[in-house]
Amino acid sequence: MLQLHSATVSTIGAEPPQLVSDVPGPRSRALAERLARVESRNVTCTQPTPPIFWDRAAGANVWDVDGNRYVDLTSGFGVANAGHAHPEVVRALAEQSGRLLHAMGDVHPAEVKVALLEEIARRFPGGGPARAVLGSSGSDAVEIALKTAVIASGRAGLVAFEGAYHGLSLGALAATWRPLFRQPFQALLPDTTAFARFGELEDVPRAASACAVPVGAVIVEPIQGRGGERIPPRGFLSGLRALCDREGWLLIADEVYTGCGRTGRWFACEHEGVVPDLLCIAKGLASGMPISACVGRAELMDAWPPSEGEALHTQTFLGHPPGCAAALASLRVLSGERLVERSAETGARALTQLEHRFAGRPGVRDVRGLGLLLAVELDAPERAAQLCARALARGVIALPSGDDARVLALTPPLSIDPDLLADAIDRIADALE
Ligand code: PLP
Repeated sequence: MLQLHSATVSTIGAEPPQLVSDVPGPRSRALAERLARVESRNVTCTQPTPPIFWDRAAGANVWDVDGNRYVDLTSGFGVANAGHAHPEVVRALAEQSGRLLHAMGDVHPAEVKVALLEEIARRFPGGGPARAVLGSSGSDAVEIALKTAVIASGRAGLVAFEGAYHGLSLGALAATWRPLFRQPFQALLPDTTAFARFGELEDVPRAASACAVPVGAVIVEPIQGRGGERIPPRGFLSGLRALCDREGWLLIADEVYTGCGRTGRWFACEHEGVVPDLLCIAKGLASGMPISACVGRAELMDAWPPSEGEALHTQTFLGHPPGCAAALASLRVLSGERLVERSAETGARALTQLEHRFAGRPGVRDVRGLGLLLAVELDAPERAAQLCARALARGVIALPSGDDARVLALTPPLSIDPDLLADAIDRIADALE
């Protein structure tokens, strides 16, 4: 039996699946019909199979509106790092919401914004004075990084990577690879981004010289998340750091997915001892509230001019007090419950089990992972979609990822009970034909 770190981990939401209706059940089906009448049809896929509609969640469990209980191996898009609705996060949120629900982010801010920024600056991998700008989404954090890079370097050219996902707002979309997302909006995208092959250091100078304008920065996910949990060869990130130093390019680490303990270190770039110039954090930052940050060394962030009353980059909800309070609580939980270490240990055990249960089976191309960012790559998107559907019918929520959606991604809460995760993996493995 694996000895996990002994810190007390919240034990709520550690129940095996319990299904009491069809999946999806009648209430989910009815909601899907109502939704399809009022939401743009681009957003939620309701046909041919409706989704399950979530009713509540705790720890690693999700209950749908039909009363079915699932084990969530997605953390809700990699968000619930401390577990769904961690009591400390919920308490901090309730307390802050009752006292101050909204402030004036860049004019008359809330006290809690200061505390969160101090905490984020303290955790910046490079150490030393750091400063950050808060946002509400991962895309926001990327937009801030791209703007900072232009202001600091004076150059608009950007190298990004094939397979990269940095978000869908227009600035972030310019660095996102997948043609499906880009093609309809091509006319709105600047030609200032050049793409290099992910994991191939020698392709980066080629891409940079193909860029229409001089390059100021390289943006990289240390492990590609939505691109299919792609782990680059060891040395890629540190090589990229050295290349950026040589060429005078800024290195932006987009750790929206990989940050906050997901890969078994606070930030994935720490696996290679790499200190980025700018770091994007979101998803797991608050374990359930929409808040994000771009943080960087103070002297670099000071390329932004001082505000003389009009912030060059801000939002109505910047530094939203409940989000800040939730983020502070979540960071406390990640440290207090040693969930980053736990992510490394639970992930290593789960990877061994995945290799044992999946490697060499028909249709399985690869099994990989780092911490609790785990993946089984299949040979076809149909197989991945079918496996996800069957897993759901056995009470396990998992998602396909990758440009052609043939990777089964497993990113459970970092607090998940290792035996519960093992049981969920067995259920998925049993569902593979
Ligand atoms: N960057 C990375 C690495 C992501 O994985 C994502 C979302 O999955 C984003 C940026 C965009 O975040 P959001 O969807 O919160 O805008």
